[in-house]
Amino acid sequence: MAEQPRFIVVGGGLAGLMTTLKLAEAGQQVDVFSIVPVKRSHSVCAQGGINGAVNTKGEGDHPDIHVKDTLKGGDFLNEQPPVKGMCYAAPGIIYLLDRLGVPFNGPPEGVIDFRRLGGTLHHRTAFAGATTGQQLLYALDEQVRRHEAEGRVRKFEYWEFLGIAKDGQGRCRGIAAVDLRSMEVKAYPAAAVCLCTGGPGIIFGRSTNSMINTGSAMGSAYIDGALFGNPEMIQVHPTAIPGEDKLRLMSESIRGEGWRMWVPRDGKPWYFLEEKYPHYKNLVPRDVATREIFKVCREMHLGVDGKDQVYLDVTHIPADVLRRKIGGVIEIYEKFVGDDPTKVPMRIFPGMHYSMGGLWVDYEANDKGDVVPSARNQATNIPGLYAAGECDYQYHGANRLGANSLLSCIYAGQIVGPAMTLYAKKALGDEGSALEEARKRWRERRVAIYKLRSDTPENPYVIDQELGDLMSDACTVVRYNDKLRKAEGKIVELKGRWKKVGNLDDSPRANQAVTFTNQLWNMLEMAHAMVKGALLRDECRGAHYKPDFEVKPAEGKKPQDDPAFMEKWRANLEKWNKTTIATYKPEAPEISYRAVPYPILKPEPRHYD
Ligand SMILES: Cc1cc2nc3c(=O)[nH]c(=O)nc-3n(C[C@H](O)[C@H](O)[C@H](O)COP(=O)(O)OP(=O)(O)OC[C@H]3O[C@@H](n4cnc5c(N)ncnc54)[C@H](O)[C@@H]3O)c2cc1C
Repeated sequence: MAEQPRFIVVGGGLAGLMTTLKLAEAGQQVDVFSIVPVKRSHSVCAQGGINGAVNTKGEGDHPDIHVKDTLKGGDFLNEQPPVKGMCYAAPGIIYLLDRLGVPFNGPPEGVIDFRRLGGTLHHRTAFAGATTGQQLLYALDEQVRRHEAEGRVRKFEYWEFLGIAKDGQGRCRGIAAVDLRSMEVKAYPAAAVCLCTGGPGIIFGRSTNSMINTGSAMGSAYIDGALFGNPEMIQVHPTAIPGEDKLRLMSESIRGEGWRMWVPRDGKPWYFLEEKYPHYKNLVPRDVATREIFKVCREMHLGVDGKDQVYLDVTHIPADVLRRKIGGVIEIYEKFVGDDPTKVPMRIFPGMHYSMGGLWVDYEANDKGDVVPSARNQATNIPGLYAAGECDYQYHGANRLGANSLLSCIYAGQIVGPAMTLYAKKALGDEGSALEEARKRWRERRVAIYKLRSDTPENPYVIDQELGDLMSDACTVVRYNDKLRKAEGKIVELKGRWKKVGNLDDSPRANQAVTFTNQLWNMLEMAHAMVKGALLRDECRGAHYKPDFEVKPAEGKKPQDDPAFMEKWRANLEKWNKTTIATYKPEAPEISYRAVPYPILKPEPRHYD
């Protein structure tokens, strides 16, 4: 009897574990690769919660309203059918997680409590204290372990995916990976591979992401021909605490519990969000809140103590409520700043947080805009290669709403598993020398990095630091073409300097310098695509804000009441409601565009006042 094909899932965060579960439930054999033990994947850090229009509070919430909030939040750059699929699946996902043992907050009768996060007027976010990601990850890990014990799943923890193995027809037939302890490079076959490798925050130097989130796996697939969708769409979270090493998120859950943001003005607190957005108040979407904080600090020079910081105040909420509902966040602030937020307002500033862009993936939908079972769902343009989770591009458009990411990871995992199974039903034939070639290529690449020498050696960590500073300065909250052009030039220079790196460590085991030097190249290529995408998109959309191209209604007028504005807005929509597609080329990314279809909801000007 022919041996049963194996499947590979790279990444053991929420997207990876749900993909693995779906494959294992279908009786498939799955190999899961992860740089860190899967329980340490970045998903473990998620604090605020997971969205689902369950409407337990009788507010009239409905998945259709969730769809609308998500599309409006993403400034209509999201792919609409997958968003609809996700929002409709959300209540079921929350009840599934509840049954798997996630200790969601709620009264003892067992009803799940929901909090409000940004970009919606409804209580839609289920949460387990302020450690929702951890509870979700552990619940899925427990299920995967069951399949592991039964022999359907093998875990390769402390293994790094290096690149895909392509056959003569350009199809993905497996991967090359390195054991991060022995540094041995091996190739593994697969009927289909899914990358669930999370976000690329470390490209920006300091971010709220975990330190392993380099985006290197995505970069490797991009260099090998996978398309990169909306690379320029980067979310800067309004509320982080700056640190020397990294930024620490002060979760949006605090907003949901009634935070108030203010700065002193004329001797009194000025609640700038409440004044400007009387409807949504402190719960405007992240991109809007972030720009307002920037304006207050950088343009109006009203930052607390003249610094880049505003107050995030929860001192009016009883301490016992705060400890019960957002204890984890309060502890982070106490630990890293030293003040007790139940007594003293926190001081925060925006920080790089999330990538809406990622590997371009497909879907198949019917005439009603419903995603249908298909091998195309979550498939990249490389046959046999799939992507799900933060590393795919299709759910969040130009700005992600809080608590929609955990949801998109789990939903994408639920549909990609069956898609891979369907794909593997086709007879793929012999993979030829694909695996051996991949193993050889990546082994040689690593040997070459071991041998890197130069008379004037460059330090990869210095290049990384310069890249981070550059990206944070040019490609985050406010973007200008002259800065982006300079940034592109600098990235080309950094790529040149990478070639002159002097290897810092010759040790044959657990060599982090060699590992990082390899990742850095992929990060530079990803950064190049982000900057070029941002440079060429001459408009404002969601998180992508270019003041030189801003189209605003006249002062005091709502968009629909200003015909001149509406005309300009429609012209801009016609020109720019397109997905940016970056195709790797050795000299510079090639940028093209694909129109975003609107089978579910027509775009409208985005305003929250
Ligand atoms: C501080 C913080 C709080 C957040 N809170 C929330 C929240 O409350 N709600 C919400 O919806 N979203 C939240 N987000 C966003 C959300 O946590 C992430 O988008 C989501 O968890 C990503 O999950 P993932 O499965 O795609 O990737 P991850 O959980 O990042 O997992 C990636 C996996 O890929 C593996 N991997 C990566 N590269 C390789 C490689 N080369 N080889 C092998 N393995 C590799 C890693 O080891 C890991 O297992 C938050 C984000 C941050 C930064």
